[in-house]
Amino acid sequence: RAKREGKNRYVLFTKGMHQELYEKFRTENGIRFGLLHREFVVHYQPKVNIDTRKTSSLEALIRWNKGGKLISPSVFIPIAEESSLIDDICLFVLEETCAFHVVMKEQDIAVPVSVNISPRQFHNADFVDLVEDLLGRYQVAPHYLEFEITETTAMKDVEHTLAVMSRLRELGILFSIDDFGTGYSSLGSLNKMPVNTLKIDKQFVDNLDANSGIIATIIAISQQMHLNVVAEGVETEEQLLGLGAMGCHEAQGYYFSRPVSDADILRYLLAEHGRS
Ligand code: C2E
Ligand code: MG
Ligand code: MG
Ligand code: MG
Repeated sequence: RAKREGKNRYVLFTKGMHQELYEKFRTENGIRFGLLHREFVVHYQPKVNIDTRKTSSLEALIRWNKGGKLISPSVFIPIAEESSLIDDICLFVLEETCAFHVVMKEQDIAVPVSVNISPRQFHNADFVDLVEDLLGRYQVAPHYLEFEITETTAMKDVEHTLAVMSRLRELGILFSIDDFGTGYSSLGSLNKMPVNTLKIDKQFVDNLDANSGIIATIIAISQQMHLNVVAEGVETEEQLLGLGAMGCHEAQGYYFSRPVSDADILRYLLAEHGRS
C-alpha cells in the first residue's frame, strides 16, 4: 500500500512539474508575441516633493495589456527574468522612456524618469553600451534618466556593481535603491556606490506606526550618506504628513496619482505648470 501511495505521489509530482513548465513556456511565448504586437505599455507615476507638493520625477512601470486584461509586472517580470526575454523588456522600457523624455522636453516640462532594472539585465555584459547608445540616439541630458535597483541587485557582486555603476554614472545616470529595508545591504558597500536615493518600501508605509522606528532609521541613514529619500505606496494625507514630519523628502503613491499612460501624465505635468 505504501508502495502504491508512493507511486501515486510520484505521478502527481511529475504532473505538477509538467504543468508548471507548460505555464512558463506559455507565458514566455506570450511575452514574445506581446513584444512583437505592442501589447506592452509603459505607465508613469509621479514622485512628489513633500514640502512643495510638486512632481520631482517619474517612475516608469511596465504594463501588459493582454487581450484587454492588464497583467501585473510582478507576474511576468520574474518569468522574463529567467530568460533573455528580460533584455527585450528592458530595452523596450528604456526606449519608451527615452522617447517620452523627448516629448516632455519639447513641451519644456522634462523631469527625470526612473526605470526599474532587474538583476540579470544590470549584470549583463552589454548593458552599459546599450544605455550609452540610447542616450546618444535620444539626446537625453545627464540626470534625466535614473535606474532603480534593489539591494539584492546591488549586493549580488559588489565589485561588479561598482564597476557598472561608475561607468553609468559617467554617462550621467542616477541611481536609486528600490524597496530599501526589505533586503540585505552592507552599509559599507552602499556608501561606496554612487547612489542618489533610497526608496522606503511600501510595506513600511502601509503600517507607518508599527514601522516608525525602521523608517526613522532609513531616513537617518540617508541623511548620514547625503542621499535623497522617497517613500513608496503613500495613499493617505496622514501618511504623507507623518513621513514629512520624520524628514522624508519625497512621496510616491496613489494619494497623488496611480501609474498612468504617457498622455495622462503629460496632462498632469502640464496642469502643474498651469498649462492645462
Ligand atoms: P516597484 O518598483 O517597487 O514599484 C512600485 C509598485 O507599487 C508598482 O507596482 C506601483 O504601481 C505600486 N504602487 C505605487 N503606489 C502605490 C500605492 O499607493 N498603493 C499601492 N497599493 N501600490 C502602489 P507595479 O507597477 O505592479 O510593479 C511591481 C513591481 O514590478 C515593481 O515594484 C518592479 O519591481 C517591477 N517592475 C515594474 N515595471 C518594471 C520594468 O519596467 N522593469 C522591471 N525590471 N521591473 C519592473
Ligand atoms: Mg521601482
Ligand atoms: Mg519599489
Ligand atoms: Mg516596492
